[in-house]
Amino acid sequence: GLCLRHVSSKRRHAATSHQQRRLLNQFISKAPLQDDTPDTQPPFPPFTLAVKDNIATQSLPTTCASSFLNAYHSPFEATIVTQLRSRGACLVGKTNLDEFGMGSHSTHSAFGAVSQTLPNEGGEEYSAGGSSGGSAVAVAAGEADVALGTDTGGSVRLPAAYTGVVGFKPSYGMLSRHGVVPYANSLDTVGLLARGVKEIRELVVGGGLWLEHDPRDPTSLSEAARARCASVRKGYAGVDGGKPEEVLRGLKFGIPLEYNVEELDPRIRDAWAAAAAALQKLGARIVPVSLPTTRHALSAYYIIAPAEASSNLAKYDGVRYGSRASDTDAGSSDAADGGVLYAASRGRSFGSEVQRRILLGAYTLSSEAMDNYFIKAQKIRRLVRRDFDRAFALANPLQGEPEPFDLSDLSEDILMENKLGPVGVDFLLCPTAPTLAPKLEDVVGAEGQSPVNAYVNDVFTVPASLAGLPAVSIPVRVAAEGGHKDVANTAGLQLIGQYWDDARLLAAAGAVM
Ligand code: GLN
Repeated sequence: GLCLRHVSSKRRHAATSHQQRRLLNQFISKAPLQDDTPDTQPPFPPFTLAVKDNIATQSLPTTCASSFLNAYHSPFEATIVTQLRSRGACLVGKTNLDEFGMGSHSTHSAFGAVSQTLPNEGGEEYSAGGSSGGSAVAVAAGEADVALGTDTGGSVRLPAAYTGVVGFKPSYGMLSRHGVVPYANSLDTVGLLARGVKEIRELVVGGGLWLEHDPRDPTSLSEAARARCASVRKGYAGVDGGKPEEVLRGLKFGIPLEYNVEELDPRIRDAWAAAAAALQKLGARIVPVSLPTTRHALSAYYIIAPAEASSNLAKYDGVRYGSRASDTDAGSSDAADGGVLYAASRGRSFGSEVQRRILLGAYTLSSEAMDNYFIKAQKIRRLVRRDFDRAFALANPLQGEPEPFDLSDLSEDILMENKLGPVGVDFLLCPTAPTLAPKLEDVVGAEGQSPVNAYVNDVFTVPASLAGLPAVSIPVRVAAEGGHKDVANTAGLQLIGQYWDDARLLAAAGAVM
């Protein structure tokens, strides 16, 4: 019906504007077109939706790109998918990812790596970013108007940056995670990708998604908490879109100095500076900001996320969940000894990156390492939050009384910043990733990146994740390398807002883009 016609006209249009892109392996399963008729009620027009394959759907399997779940059919649909279907979404397929969301290039998948081929690059394959790489590529290719991803430490924002689309990570607890397979519960969010900010704003703000509490998700903010958060935002409701000058006039953007790292690609640094200058021209104010704990955020993230993952993934034992190793795999006649069966199933069905995370997590949670790793990482997490709270003009609505002053927290940076007084910014502006999309061959296989090098891609995205803050990556063009004038290179710039300031953040992002 309606949806079919819509899909085919959109596709034709997309095919022309993205002709030169050859994009690969972005879907794990595809919906037959006639399958899905959206139950739209006006005012929502139908649109095509791709869903990351760690989000439950009923018409298509949900594999998490893991051999463990390669034939798994969820008995129910994720709330966010239902919510989007009632707003006009027509499911086109389930997208490829790093197994269970663990990775930065969508290469750790039981279904093979996702790749993208940039226009005019002679057919060379580039990383689509991860872990929501399939969703980003589906949107970039015009195969979906909107895609769902999950963002635990940057998995929506990084692929958006690498593929030249918009990626939005909401405030923690805003959008329902019921039906989203957990990776690290205290960090997991569902995010949206689209070619523009407008599509995302229309669903999240205009479509009222951000108001809906889900009783089936224990981390979904209650109605009362939502009301309290909204009341902090009173008087700021004016940022309703409109002309960029109107939206941006008087807004204060902070440039976090610690994000200007040595490893930052100079082309991205230039694009960042150019964006700040453009904002200033449009009437916004630009101020330097210090977020001193930034340099510890990545290490804290890579302790907390694997620790939670090792606990979450314990249920995949080949008995209650997941595919079971055969007796021969178990290598023992007494598979009745559960340990043997579990170990064989887990050793065979989890990929190497997932196994690495489980080992890391099990270690940092062990009694001998707990104090030195897990507990320290939680302290860093609090400091990261405090850095952000100091920078923003708005108070964090979840924060009660300010934390008691602790002498041991005093670093020179903090003293310095106290002297400078509060900066009171509306949003932070920084790059999404330190580099452009790397070549796929440089990040896969034995000669590819070391795990630690892959983790470094997340250096600018994990701070907002640790603090639960909303952040959006928007594409910017960067100068082409070495005289290749027609090479289309895009990078991502990230805007980060105070907790629950998502509506204003999206309005500002729309104006910046
Ligand atoms: N790359 C990060 C990781 O591997 C982020 C993943 C995510 O956000 N799901 O943990």
